[in-house]
Amino acid sequence: MDPKVQQFMAMIKARNPGENEFHQAVQEVAESLIPFIEENPKYKHAKILERIAEPERTIIFRVPWLDDKGEVQINRGFRIEMNSAIGPYKGGLRLHPTVNLGILKFLAFEQVFKNSLTTLPMGGGKGGSDFDPKGKSDNEVMRFCQSFMSELFRHIGADTDVPAGDIGVGGREIGFLFGQYKRLKNEFTGVLTGKGIEWGGSLIRPEATGYGATYFAEEMLSTRGETMKGKVVCISGSGNVAQYATEKVVELGGKVVTASDSNGFIYDPKGIDCDKLKFIMDLKNVRRGRIKEYADKFGVEYFEGKRPWIIKCDIAMPCATQNEINEEEAKLLIKNGCKCVSEGSNMPSTPEAVGVFLNAQILYGPGKAANAGGVATSGLEMTQNSMRLPWSREEVDEKLHTIMKNIHKTCVKYGTKENGFINYVDGANIGGFVKVANAMIAQGVV
Ligand code: NDP
Repeated sequence: MDPKVQQFMAMIKARNPGENEFHQAVQEVAESLIPFIEENPKYKHAKILERIAEPERTIIFRVPWLDDKGEVQINRGFRIEMNSAIGPYKGGLRLHPTVNLGILKFLAFEQVFKNSLTTLPMGGGKGGSDFDPKGKSDNEVMRFCQSFMSELFRHIGADTDVPAGDIGVGGREIGFLFGQYKRLKNEFTGVLTGKGIEWGGSLIRPEATGYGATYFAEEMLSTRGETMKGKVVCISGSGNVAQYATEKVVELGGKVVTASDSNGFIYDPKGIDCDKLKFIMDLKNVRRGRIKEYADKFGVEYFEGKRPWIIKCDIAMPCATQNEINEEEAKLLIKNGCKCVSEGSNMPSTPEAVGVFLNAQILYGPGKAANAGGVATSGLEMTQNSMRLPWSREEVDEKLHTIMKNIHKTCVKYGTKENGFINYVDGANIGGFVKVANAMIAQGVV
């Protein structure tokens, strides 16, 4: 490791002990940025990298709620307000039993760069709780959300901090959170994004992350004269991002052969078509069941406790969670002919896996670029809320498509190496950094 990166990381680890995912996210960015900062000393003198890795504010709170048996349950709530140099804090809320401070700080840190890449005026934040929505009734989820918002409401606002969904937070949860915020503040404002279409939401927001990651894959493929048509695609996850990535890949002529959840994955060699996707949407969004049911229904193979990366494909789109592709799986993907990885989830590839993709010089689109379509469309929802005017589906989709193309252009600008290889990791990190860093310098030492 570069000694300057090593020195910087020693400081980060000492200040943030035990926060492994946060260390991982910061190190990846530091490796891209430290050489760039050495060439641009104004950022070094202003200690931008040191400042950007320290949240502006961290809020941790108790979330007590009553379950259906009348028993008191206690969870922990978080909101990391990471950086507001270019706009209000913006980033999702995650509800998952693994949620802790380190995971949310990694997500908030990545969000700062991602939001900057969209070119929209949004700072970075992230939040959530170790509450597990799985197996809970709608009433329990509502009581949890109301309790969570009873504390969070005093820290957020349409011009301060605008949360959205993430793992475990979809339309149902955003509805309960918004209802409680409105009740407490007596205000109907765009304080959350991902709202229902009847009450301030934007068309295409549910689709945006998955569609955006697919548009990004198409842009990467176009640099090598290829398209999605006819490509075999492995997708992990079966939640929001995975569902709409599948939909868009199929629309563009690709064949999606896998879907997964935390228990295992299904392999459908004929491809998941629109009808089978409808089944997944009903299974996951309404009945809240396990992906194994797909295998039972359509008579395909199910791999318990395994991830999809053992299946031969042209394109891999991880859309589940962090660190879901390890070094061995990355090598297997390459060996099986995978030429493109577009990350719908955040930090799905371990550092070793990223090393494998970069060494093999495949088209590797890191999450902070490839999955930025979700937050970009949240930004478009904020604009529509401010104007109090909704845009049509076509208008929003076109804007999303243009934003993804522009993010790709930024990555090419900052990530193209002497031999012509586009290192999208460097491209996204440097491209996302410059605007935030310049804003921080302009605003003084704050
Ligand atoms: P959902 O909750 O809708 O779906 C998550 C999916 O991933 C589910 O299939 C879930 O399976 C699976 N999963 C979750 N945790 C694990 C785990 N530890 N191991 C294996 N599988 C797991 O979330 P989203 O689709 O919204 O989010 C997926 C990813 O995309 C996350 O990394 C998120 O940060 C990222 N992302 C989301 C955006 C959005 O707009 N929603 C925007 C940008 C990034 P199970 O049902 O078993 O839990």
